[in-house]
Amino acid sequence: MPDRELTMLETAHAYFNETCDLLDVEDGLRQVLLNPWRQLSVSVPIRMDNGEIRVFNGFRVQHNGVRGPYKGGVRYAPAADAAHTNALAMLMTWKTALVDIPFGGAKGGVQVQPADLSEGELNRLTRRYTGAISHIIGPQRDIPAPDMGTNAQVMAWMMDAFGQTNGYSPGAVTGKPIELGGSYGREAATGRGVCDIAMLAAADIGIDMRGATVAIQGFGNVGSFAGQRMVEIGAHVVALSDANRAIYDPAGLDMEEVLAHNARVGSLENCPLGEVITNEELLELDVDILIPAAIEGVISTENAEKIRARLIVEAANSPITYGADAILADQGTTVIPDILANAGGVIVSYFEWAQNIQRFRWTLNRVNEELYTTISHGFDRAQEMAKERDLTPRKAAYAVAVGAVAKATELRGFI
Ligand code: NAD
Repeated sequence: MPDRELTMLETAHAYFNETCDLLDVEDGLRQVLLNPWRQLSVSVPIRMDNGEIRVFNGFRVQHNGVRGPYKGGVRYAPAADAAHTNALAMLMTWKTALVDIPFGGAKGGVQVQPADLSEGELNRLTRRYTGAISHIIGPQRDIPAPDMGTNAQVMAWMMDAFGQTNGYSPGAVTGKPIELGGSYGREAATGRGVCDIAMLAAADIGIDMRGATVAIQGFGNVGSFAGQRMVEIGAHVVALSDANRAIYDPAGLDMEEVLAHNARVGSLENCPLGEVITNEELLELDVDILIPAAIEGVISTENAEKIRARLIVEAANSPITYGADAILADQGTTVIPDILANAGGVIVSYFEWAQNIQRFRWTLNRVNEELYTTISHGFDRAQEMAKERDLTPRKAAYAVAVGAVAKATELRGFI
């Protein structure tokens, strides 16, 4: 066990190397699968509303394209540097392989605090960033999507900027508004998929979802839709948080009221519901299911032993550090890894891309049904591997995913 917390990229590499040891992947092939195929670093200068020029750092990392066009979100966050983007791109390769959709893995990022920019500044930033990476993206090359700090509006600007030089290309970006070729159900897809997976995992370890207690950290795209869906399926969401406030009510929070407050204020700040607790306390609550849906590294070696939830569903990417993962495994906590738990977003992005290419729109019912079919297939594959080789859900999910990409690489015969 390392004597310090691993970074997100070191964590991604550590899980990958452990999996290669398990699967006996030869050294040369490991290098092909470990290293990103292309890493682009760009400068994104824009004129601010006050007339000043500011330059932001942008990245697009294409980790592996052996199974199809690269696919992955774009994150606007101060921490979205090269190493971060690289780690997230690698996770995308395993995620698409695990749920068996025909994409590789990529990720983009701009080091910016989006809340500090006006709408006009964000529009200009997005266009400039898209222009800088447009020679390596496109419907058959690499298809960006929303992630932290970006949303359907940002995707609409990206599609427009890409289309200015490439012609009308809705399939170049997913997570678009419905009016511009977005898919029904895409906005809610990641949160819905988190709940699909939570239901399957809960059934497996004997938690009844009806009446199960749930704590969710992060009330953005993923956390808010996961919360709504949890209530729909009969669970009690007892705690919620965002970067501004965490709230707790053991009897269950009124989701309608929380959503109304969030829509009115733009965050949970000053939300009058429940008791105010800290984000750290939320993670340590005695609940059946904990859903970290905000940022990375929130469960670390500092607090892992204090986690009391029986089941953790990783809605965020990499919310548990490498060291904490081992502690949780030792104490018998079931952890469903990010590459499975939050795959709903990329799955419905795949449906959106397919609809765009076919110029055909699916109904919401069809999207949700096919989402369940696809994500539960990923769950079954990982379960089967876990039982066969006596592995944790994370190790099993990695074994399925890395094995699939290794096999596809061999079949392509380019090395
Ligand atoms: P978002 O920007 O919509 O929301 C993030 C939320 O986290 C906000 O409520 C914010 O206030 C909160 N937050 C930020 N820092 C926090 C902190 N220190 N403590 C508590 N809360 C904090 O982002 P999102 O799209 O919901 O993404 C959340 C996570 O899910 C990220 O890790 C992202 O990579 C992952 N993810 C998102 C998608 C998607 O489709 N959006 C898909 C797969 C994975």
